[in-house]
Amino acid sequence: MMHVYADNAATTAMSQVAIDAMTPYFNKIYGNPSSLHSVGQEAKEALDAARATVAACLGCEPREIIFTSGGSEADNQAILSAAAYGKKKNKTHIITTAFEHHAVLHTLQKLEKEGFTVTYLDVSKGHNITAQQVKDAIREDTCLVTTMYANNEIGSVLPISEIGAVCKEAGVTFHTDAVQAVGHLRIHVKEQNIDMLSLSGHKFHGPKGVGALYVRRGLPLVNVIEGGAQERGKRAGTENLPAICGMAAAMKDACDHMDENMSRVAAMRDRLIEGLSRIPHSALNGDPVNRLPGNVSFCFEGIEGESLLLLLDMKGVCASSGSACTSGSLDPSHVLLAIGRVHDVAHGSLRLSLSEYNTQEEVDHILQVVPEVVAYLRNMSPVWRDLQDGKREYIL
Ligand SMILES: *Cc1c(COP(=O)(O)O)cnc(C)c1O
Repeated sequence: MMHVYADNAATTAMSQVAIDAMTPYFNKIYGNPSSLHSVGQEAKEALDAARATVAACLGCEPREIIFTSGGSEADNQAILSAAAYGKKKNKTHIITTAFEHHAVLHTLQKLEKEGFTVTYLDVSKGHNITAQQVKDAIREDTCLVTTMYANNEIGSVLPISEIGAVCKEAGVTFHTDAVQAVGHLRIHVKEQNIDMLSLSGHKFHGPKGVGALYVRRGLPLVNVIEGGAQERGKRAGTENLPAICGMAAAMKDACDHMDENMSRVAAMRDRLIEGLSRIPHSALNGDPVNRLPGNVSFCFEGIEGESLLLLLDMKGVCASSGSACTSGSLDPSHVLLAIGRVHDVAHGSLRLSLSEYNTQEEVDHILQVVPEVVAYLRNMSPVWRDLQDGKREYIL
């Protein structure tokens, strides 16, 4: 049976490039970069080189990069830093979107309990936001705008350059959770007026448990992890050098081959979207135009996403419904609710996320099994029978 991994927004397989880049740092160049002796200094050189590589991919200076344990930590540190700095100046208003990752949303909820006010921009129109919405929401006391670069569930790519320009003009710090965008879209933090940016190694064929925060020079940071003087004193703990070097290699590889990889991935995405749109009473989630190259997200009326996933898995397709964290809970994804899907429809969601490791044959397989499984589940569904009998009205 064919096995298709179509859950690359949850995590990716590591590339051989990344594995090869990590290997020497386990037992050959194993020093602690803080040690003054030659073994430590060799490790320090590798750390500096990785920092320079990551900075070059983002268009910033190496000293503006802080290595973290991943995207979640980078999001936490960016938001808590801007909030702490804002509070000192009596600015306690933050702007975000309703469809952020929980690493952002839960950090903001914590700040709300401490007295901050958060504006959650509506994403129901076009499954995206506009820079005008950001502009209209900015107040005298706004200390931070934090919007994701691209949505992990529905693939919408936000107008980051325009939002950056709005924030720059208003003098408000702009952070973006770019975990889904780095390695997949061209990013230049200076040209796009981004003040802070979070990224994560395992979303672009690098290792898990490592990420980075870009922070524009001069912006103050608070520590999430206290202890040593690593990372300019802003993130304590002995650096995970193998992971950092693996992530840097994966990032360079992704940036070097971005155009060819992404046009191939986007072509597979478009075939899937076209094919799955033919399923009756279905709807594409996310911005149809400004969209991640690998994201395909649908709602199918009259079925449960969980059953769909289990049956697809049996037929060799690993996919997701909404975010990995919502699987197993009864609440539908906050992202699907935020774009205006009602509960019943949001439950019947499917996310396929592709990478350059996927093939046209795999797309053929998906296009064969998804319509079969949807039809099979609808046949067993009392909700679907009511819809067919006219006892309920179709929403999609
Ligand atoms: C995966 C993801 C994160 C979390 O990154 P980790 O490295 O797994 O902590 C944050 N934001 C978005 C948009 C993501 O897709």
